Amino acid sequence: MAKKKIMKRSWAEPFKIKVVEPIKMTTREHREKALKVAGYNTFLLKSEDVYIDLLTDSGTNAMSDYQWAGMMLGDEAYAGSKNFYYLWDNVKKYYGMPYFVPTHQGRAAEHIISKILITPGDYVPGNMYFTTTKLHQELAGATFVDVIIDEAHDTENEHPFKGNIDLQKLKDLVKKVGAKKIAYISMAGPVNMAGGQPFSMKNLKAVGKYAKENKIPLWFDATRAVENAYFIKEREKGYGKASIQKILHEMCSYFDGLWVSAKKDLMVNIGGILATKSKKVFQAARNMVVVYEGLHTYGGLAGRDMEAMARGMEEMVDFDTIRARIGQVEYAGKRLEEFGIPFVKPVGGHAIFLDAKKFLSHLKQDLFPAQTLAAEIYADSGVRSMERGIVSAGRNKKTGEHNYPKLELVRLTFPRRVYTQAHIDVTVESIASVYENRKSFKGLRMTYEPKYLRFFQGRFERI
Ligand SMILES: *Cc1c(COP(=O)(O)O)cnc(C)c1O
Repeated sequence: MAKKKIMKRSWAEPFKIKVVEPIKMTTREHREKALKVAGYNTFLLKSEDVYIDLLTDSGTNAMSDYQWAGMMLGDEAYAGSKNFYYLWDNVKKYYGMPYFVPTHQGRAAEHIISKILITPGDYVPGNMYFTTTKLHQELAGATFVDVIIDEAHDTENEHPFKGNIDLQKLKDLVKKVGAKKIAYISMAGPVNMAGGQPFSMKNLKAVGKYAKENKIPLWFDATRAVENAYFIKEREKGYGKASIQKILHEMCSYFDGLWVSAKKDLMVNIGGILATKSKKVFQAARNMVVVYEGLHTYGGLAGRDMEAMARGMEEMVDFDTIRARIGQVEYAGKRLEEFGIPFVKPVGGHAIFLDAKKFLSHLKQDLFPAQTLAAEIYADSGVRSMERGIVSAGRNKKTGEHNYPKLELVRLTFPRRVYTQAHIDVTVESIASVYENRKSFKGLRMTYEPKYLRFFQGRFERI
């Protein structure tokens, strides 16, 4: 028998398992019952009934022993906790922003910054929307305008930086409404709703230059900034040898301020950051955080949470850590490809996005193909994913009709440091099995629709 030769050396995770959490194995019958009770909405399933939970990477991370040890060092003073000052030092060190306010999670920072920067009637251009970001911009009285490049809406297009802003679209908006009516430019990277697609440093530089010339503030949703930095290192000329920390620093240098959901990059379970170069914005934010979150030295967090965040920040810029994180997503993509399953290319930083329009091409969009697909994957194997399509896109403010987004996706999001390669194999094979049976699914009917962010609590039944 011919012996196998080494073609390419593998890498493995730069950590080993110290504590395990058992998960429940369920039967098809059990899952069918659970789905019905949950109104065919994976957000409404009990975690107990889930085998492999790929609903989100938000707050679902496994912390390191270094972070857990830090939890014991929580200084729970009401004011001036030492963990707050350590965290502030690290915000300066890793994001390069001098001013900082902690918040209990990302949307709390979005709420505060939207209230400060937006005057009702303003516009906020951004590289595709994110649910909570857009909602807070709208609640503050702004109109969100998507200025991402067209390639981002094409699931087959392999553009390496599908998160880029189309400068012409931005200029057209400024020409139409005037620079004074632009509250700020809202740039995220990688873009969650586009499939975890990054922006390039070149694009950011150009946007930054234009913003400065027109005196428009440029703000960064830096929730997954480290993943964006990794893609810049891998894909953009001139950055191959730069460290993640250095790239992150350069990215942040073009922005006036940023917010972070620490539940992502920072590998903790709760926390948020608002940081800026502007003393004026800082003072306003520091005052407002007292109203909504808590004193400006804890912002809705315990001292121990801030310690874990500060330590997570030190780990997030480690190259082997971020490579293992994104490498796991890439592995899942490679395996799905073997079965010919349609998903967004190139594979994003935090998730695989199945293309439900192609997967269930016999279903019209108002039969909720992505919602259907997420439900059927759960029924097949207990793997939990989520809808990112017509349900997430909500309704048109003026007409009350569904928004019909171009992308109708199911997101499989990978928590950091939680699952093994074997879990990924089980997941991929389940999706392949649902793909084989795809013609038997008839779609869903909505039976309950909440007013805000309907994807979280909406209920459905099978047609
Ligand atoms: C998660 C997330 C948010 C919101 O943060 P929360 O901590 O969930 O409130 C904002 N923007 C992006 C890009 C996110 O992924």
